[in-house]
Amino acid sequence: MRRPLFQRTRWGRGVLAALLLAGAGWSSAPDGVYAQGGTAAREEANPAAAKRIAVVIDDFGNGMKGTEQMLGLPVPLTAAVMPFLPTTKKDAEAAHAKGHDVIVHMPMEPVKGKASWLGPNAILTSLPDDEIRRRVEAAIADVPHAVGMNNHMGSKATADERVMRIVLQVCKEKGIFFLDSRTSYKSVIPQVAKELGVPLLRNDVFLDDVYTAAHVSRQLGVLKQRLDKKTNCVVIGHVGPPGLITSGALRSAIPGFEKTGAKFVRLSQLLPPAVPPAFGMVLRSLVRASGQGATHR
Ligand SMILES: [Zn+2]
Repeated sequence: MRRPLFQRTRWGRGVLAALLLAGAGWSSAPDGVYAQGGTAAREEANPAAAKRIAVVIDDFGNGMKGTEQMLGLPVPLTAAVMPFLPTTKKDAEAAHAKGHDVIVHMPMEPVKGKASWLGPNAILTSLPDDEIRRRVEAAIADVPHAVGMNNHMGSKATADERVMRIVLQVCKEKGIFFLDSRTSYKSVIPQVAKELGVPLLRNDVFLDDVYTAAHVSRQLGVLKQRLDKKTNCVVIGHVGPPGLITSGALRSAIPGFEKTGAKFVRLSQLLPPAVPPAFGMVLRSLVRASGQGATHR
């Protein structure tokens, strides 16, 4: 049995060490799944690192309550816009014009919940492969300026490996990242995204799963606690029934967070920098030469 190239030669070992060092920054997706263990250790070691908060607002696209108030918040946001709805294009354009990130808020089948909450062309686990692919491609094409995708509902679909493999494969082909809203603890998204090489972020706190000001302010307190331990946090709020409550609570809380040195950022700013093409080429040829690539196919 051949040992990998980088174990067989001193040159190989040296190159591998250099690549691992050079890649350390790239592989440590701030809160992505690529490096969860290592990231936590680094963050603890560097408590002075500037904290970053990415606020994602779900359910744009249907003229929902709080749309203007959310888009008018005085910080960068990420607008998750549902495809194929009356204000899909208008909301995506408005968010983009204000400098926010736009992502596709992809309707996906939940374990329970009304089908009417899903919206048109949802991803159902009963659909065949080619129809899932068609719906994901159409959704991305329908939301202008989309740089990423997250799931609307989806506790059932995100736990289905066949379904998520197709969804994430399309994201990869279109060059967009995925945010796992984490509506299911059985989500297969982390392992499939890692395998396919799709940049992945994950939600830390739902701000308004209960529609009261008291609950939203409690959740903002949870965010504050998370920031003591983590450099980057993703929070999700909603337009619609809690839209005015959540936008009001955010507007009041923003100065307090900024006073602590925390910075509000767009979701795409939390992604690891892209691998430089030359670096990727060397890494791939080294992996090929070592025969390690075969285990991934
Ligand atoms: Zn949603």
